Amino acid sequence: MTTTSPADATRASSVPSPAPADAVARDRRDLRALPKGHLHLHMEAAIRPDSLAEMAASSGVVVPMPTSFGDFSEFSATYQGMLVVLAESDNLFRLIDEAIEDCALEGVAYVEFGASPQFYVATFGSLDASLRAMLAACAESGERWGVEVGLMITVDRTESVEAANELAHLAAAYADRGVVSLGLANDERGNPAARYEEAFRVAKHAGLLSTPHAGELAGPDQIEEALDVLGADRVLHGVTAVHSETLMARLAAEGVCLDVCLTSNVLLSVIPTIEDHPLKRLVEAGVRCSINADDPILFGPGVLAEYELARTTLGLTDAQLAACALSSIECSGASDELKGRAAGEIAAWLAA
Ligand SMILES: [Zn+2]
Repeated sequence: MTTTSPADATRASSVPSPAPADAVARDRRDLRALPKGHLHLHMEAAIRPDSLAEMAASSGVVVPMPTSFGDFSEFSATYQGMLVVLAESDNLFRLIDEAIEDCALEGVAYVEFGASPQFYVATFGSLDASLRAMLAACAESGERWGVEVGLMITVDRTESVEAANELAHLAAAYADRGVVSLGLANDERGNPAARYEEAFRVAKHAGLLSTPHAGELAGPDQIEEALDVLGADRVLHGVTAVHSETLMARLAAEGVCLDVCLTSNVLLSVIPTIEDHPLKRLVEAGVRCSINADDPILFGPGVLAEYELARTTLGLTDAQLAACALSSIECSGASDELKGRAAGEIAAWLAA
């Protein structure tokens, strides 16, 4: 989708030649060259469409794609189909390798996959073995493509408290071996974050980041709960914060990053249209934000396309896009070495 921002229109009307599109292109820095972290990317949903079709055909599995985005039930059917395909370990490793290659192609210096080792216990024999297999594959492919990889072990909000605690202890055991954060996903309505207080306490005690989804389908109160009860360092989505000046001021003051996903928010009816998305308002209120793709196999755009959308449709300036990229690095679980290097490269990108 391409639209013209008011700034583009002004620039185009004052530059008769060359063509406006050329003028815009010349004036704007290459977003692929902007080093960025991809912090809100569910591993399974990073699969390439062609690869999924090929794997499904060879496994004899039908994976239904959602025909609408009205509720989570169609997602669930898609995810269940994908998990049948990915139960073959070679398919999971291929997904990981191709997803990391795609990150490299989009200028992603660091990816923090939402990972669910609980999905692969039957494949690898135990929760621990599943996580070790995923970490090994991520390390090998990250090395190959030049992308640093961290894992966000993700609790499903419909899981029991006991299962969540088991995952948190597993994540904590791998805190210095590739696991960087503990996430919390699925529908927040009716599944309050507070149930998982203990799991997040275990994770934080081990030095992991607390990175729950909140403020997507529910209001600012759920974001406040994520901050107060789960000690959130980042909030995945968090866009309903825009409805509370007090909360935006708090997020800005505490440096909590929102891992925002534009297309996902529109397709899931969190926001009516892309043009209505509050990313720019949040950034201008001083809230740290990263830009992400969430579930590319379902929603379409990858992270680079989401940055392009933020520029062309929401009118984020290059300085604001660089600030989002910097937040996506500084607020992540990336190594200090990468954080230092990427910060310098982002500054150089903006200065160019
Ligand atoms: Zn998500």
